[in-house]
Amino acid sequence: MTPRAAVLSIGDELTRGQCAETNGRWISEQLLEAGVMVVELRTVGDDREAIAKALRAFSGSVDLVVATGGLGPTHDDLTREGLAEAMGGVALEVSAKARAAIEARFAQRGQPMPPSNLRQALCPAGAQHLENAHGTAPGIVSVVHRTQVYCLPGPPHEMRPMFVREVVPSATALVACSGARAPGICTIHACGLPESLAAELIQPLMNRKANPMVGTTASGALVSARICAVADAAHDGSLERTACEIERAWGDYAFGRDSTTIAHALGETLASRGESLAIAESCTGGLIGQLITSVPGSSGWFTGGWISYSDDFKQSSLGVDREIVRSHGAVSEQTACAMAVAAATRANAQWSVSATGIAGPTGGTLNKPIGTVWIGIAGRVNRSGEVGVFARQFRFGGEREQIRIRAATTALQLARLAILGRADVRLLSQVTSSATAST
Ligand code: ATP
Repeated sequence: MTPRAAVLSIGDELTRGQCAETNGRWISEQLLEAGVMVVELRTVGDDREAIAKALRAFSGSVDLVVATGGLGPTHDDLTREGLAEAMGGVALEVSAKARAAIEARFAQRGQPMPPSNLRQALCPAGAQHLENAHGTAPGIVSVVHRTQVYCLPGPPHEMRPMFVREVVPSATALVACSGARAPGICTIHACGLPESLAAELIQPLMNRKANPMVGTTASGALVSARICAVADAAHDGSLERTACEIERAWGDYAFGRDSTTIAHALGETLASRGESLAIAESCTGGLIGQLITSVPGSSGWFTGGWISYSDDFKQSSLGVDREIVRSHGAVSEQTACAMAVAAATRANAQWSVSATGIAGPTGGTLNKPIGTVWIGIAGRVNRSGEVGVFARQFRFGGEREQIRIRAATTALQLARLAILGRADVRLLSQVTSSATAST
């Protein structure tokens, strides 16, 4: 039988809504990939009794519990106490090894260990500390009523490496002992395709009783299909066949699998051709650059760009003709084209992408409502370096931040499609058909 797990997120900042709970989702995904099914996700505050109650309720009914948070040095970090209580009221003892590790971490920074950090060396009798290479809070592993309980630090950058090092091997061993097999999972990503159409295109694959099972999710301008194959279907090629069918159905909109981002896909397209990209951003205020530079190695194909926010700066730094902005407006096809041409020319890049629009909440007009964004693409069309350019108008829905992220992701997809010679593909929220011009 497939092993079962529960995830417990601990912290007042989570129950009060001051911090978004993301550990649970990440852990569930990882456990499912390892072949362990998460049957419950629970969040409790920094409350010893609530922590103990949740751990007692889970233990005995699931094979594995992963708790995060509440391992800090202050008196409101109560995971250690909650675990000790769930283990039958055992005592907390100072672990000499954990104490030495915490002291060494402070010594590395040239500081003495504050006495309060000694709390982090406490461990319920019978439990073991887990080394934390990225912070001072050690994790703890224990057994409560035959259930393995892992308590990991709350900060994701500390929790994730500890999870991979400690919990994954344990989950894999549980799966091996149970005789179950890990499911096969693959995610296909597309950009610029409405979720309803995306689902329609792969409807025959989306039967909830099918194996592999396919489900779609949408976020901003992105839509993804998650394929989960269990039992024989995880190993007989069904997963790959389904992935290929979805990619075929979504055509040019599909840009990658699993952890591939749209910036990643654009980078691969450019790198395979030995070409480079520059950017000129207005309403996206650096988001396009951020998406691009989060791809390791993007310096191989990204030259750099401009956040040309004010009209003056568009002229003084980027070199956009002031007259173009004055006669057509900053949010116009002509300005988007001029920004793109200027960026490609000044950066000496083969390609460039520009974005200029109205993200709101103010500034919208009848003709140019909030969400109106022009995205321009310039590319060198021949060896003499002549630049071809076009711009597309979009009307993105949502609040300021959603408009900005939708514009940034769509700009990257439009650049990718233009480079592939598929600039004719109509993207989600596009208002007009393409308009082309040449400088
Ligand atoms: P530390 O010694 O760093 O305090 P800790 O285990 O006590 O470790 P917490 O104090 O519970 O961790 O959380 C520290 C921070 O980690 C939180 O303020 C929050 O930013 C982040 N964090 C904690 N739990 C979660 C969670 N479930 N999802 C996302 N972020 C979290």
